[in-house]
Amino acid sequence: MARVYNFSAGPAVLPEEVLKEAAEEMMDYRGCGMSVMEMSHRSKTYQTIIDEAEADLRDLIGIPDNYKVLFLQGGASQQFAMIPMNLMKNKVADYIVTGQWAKKAWQEAGKYGKANKIASSEDKTFSYIPDCSDLPISEDADYVYICENNTIYGTKFKTLPNTKGKTLVADVSSCFLSEPVDITKYGIMYGGVQKNIGPAGVVIAIIREDLITEDVLPGTPTMLQYKTHADAGSLYNTPPAYGIYICGKVFKWLKKMGGLSAIKELNEKKAAILYDFLDQSSLFKGTVRKEDRSLMNVPFITGSEELDAKFVKEAKEAGLESLKGHRSVGGMRASIYNAMPVEGVEKLVEFMKKFEAENA
Ligand SMILES: *Cc1c(COP(=O)(O)O)cnc(C)c1O
Repeated sequence: MARVYNFSAGPAVLPEEVLKEAAEEMMDYRGCGMSVMEMSHRSKTYQTIIDEAEADLRDLIGIPDNYKVLFLQGGASQQFAMIPMNLMKNKVADYIVTGQWAKKAWQEAGKYGKANKIASSEDKTFSYIPDCSDLPISEDADYVYICENNTIYGTKFKTLPNTKGKTLVADVSSCFLSEPVDITKYGIMYGGVQKNIGPAGVVIAIIREDLITEDVLPGTPTMLQYKTHADAGSLYNTPPAYGIYICGKVFKWLKKMGGLSAIKELNEKKAAILYDFLDQSSLFKGTVRKEDRSLMNVPFITGSEELDAKFVKEAKEAGLESLKGHRSVGGMRASIYNAMPVEGVEKLVEFMKKFEAENA
């Protein structure tokens, strides 16, 4: 078996242990004589799988009882509509636009009400997080929206914006479970799991109960109401059953690793290996303002498109996959999610050193 080091931004690397366990259970899940893929989502066995997944996630983050955990579909992108449809009672929301995903969410919200862009870092190709300590928060804003970790640009909010008492909604797709969080600071925290948790097809939304109401925008489809899924324990219709099962395994893996504080330490260690190298390299340069650097997505360039392409090609030949930057920004990007071993980052830096020496 030849596994590469996979630096893809998403779908992305998963813990090898989890994949092996899933493989072992593929044909016969614990004596059921069938795969989890083939199992009724109304069966007792599946109920245990989804209940355990939720319990382990609650345990990892420390989610209090007044928050619901929902397993949804439609990708993170569907939340761009679902959030305003469910939350825009005054039809006003404030958006902090720090990248393509936040921008898409802001544009989508504009279909349902007044979506104010109250801060942006687009002036410098989203290479920093704007100062959010004293923003012009709208008096009647239903919520303030951020994308906490900007997957494409490699920036991360190190402190949450001052929302002046308004509900904070955060897309955490690419930093989900990468470090401890205080969920009580959020009204909604959500993310597609295919970056840091599991296979594509599952979105996890953690929502404060008072935000889950029947008072949604007129015409909101049943499937796009949080209440539909909250009332049914995420089993209103067939959920992405296999994906949730894998997420559950990743939660158990994280608990075994020591939980979110331990994984944060490991993530900091990995990121430091790469950033320390970038900071002293004569060829490669990081593209993000230092204080805003993400622990998960690390974009870098050589300054020459030709060399960038050569690097990506030769890295692939060396077993270092998917280092090409997002099509909108070019250059390179190494996504070093929870499941990327330290060794993978060390191998990458080793390769970068060699490439630098050969192409100086
Ligand atoms: C990948 C990503 C998305 C889009 O996710 P889909 O599940 O493809 O809709 C949204 N936000 C962030 C931060 C992402 O990284």
